[in-house]
Amino acid sequence: MSMRIGYGFDSHAFKTGVPLIIGGLPIEHPEGLAGHSDGDVLLHAITDALLGAVSAGDIGTFFPPSDPRWKGAASSVFLQTALEEVATAGYKIVNIDTVLVMAKPKIVPIANELRESVSRLLGVKPGEVGIKAKTPEGLNQDHVAVAHATVLLESLEVPEPVSLRTLEAEADEDRDIEMNVVVRGLVGDSRDVSALGRKIPAFDTDDLT
Ligand SMILES: [Zn+2]
Repeated sequence: MSMRIGYGFDSHAFKTGVPLIIGGLPIEHPEGLAGHSDGDVLLHAITDALLGAVSAGDIGTFFPPSDPRWKGAASSVFLQTALEEVATAGYKIVNIDTVLVMAKPKIVPIANELRESVSRLLGVKPGEVGIKAKTPEGLNQDHVAVAHATVLLESLEVPEPVSLRTLEAEADEDRDIEMNVVVRGLVGDSRDVSALGRKIPAFDTDDLT
């Protein structure tokens, strides 16, 4: 089994007149985060951690701010694309850990809600998501929200072709068909192009096709 680690960082300034959304969760606060998209600093850091873990570039290469399609976009769209890149590369999430750095609002009272929102968007259990919060002591950045994220991935387990052949020899046709369905479910249909038509970097995918 192979494992990969990814790290992501993001920051956005606070701005009046926009809703505050962190980790996909709308939060009651007089200011939101300025950005081309919805400014979800936490999802952006997680997206970059996921993309980095499979060497698939970063959020800016997939969703350039110059592209009007992403103006005001929900950041869950970015996250979904990163999850597709991870799955296409043959990996799944083991766990994810994050740190939010901001003076206000206080994160501790909503940390559980945040964790549930992020785990739902990632398709993992809440116990596989860490949400920690710090205030920016001594950094003089009280009007900025910062997020750091680390993700650990492990390769999807795919049965060896040799053991498959052994099974084929031993099993009847019905069982062969069942096994093929299982393998297809694990590997997915063969694809080397991302949802946005980008060519997936060729690493470790040879084992799966
Ligand atoms: Zn961002």
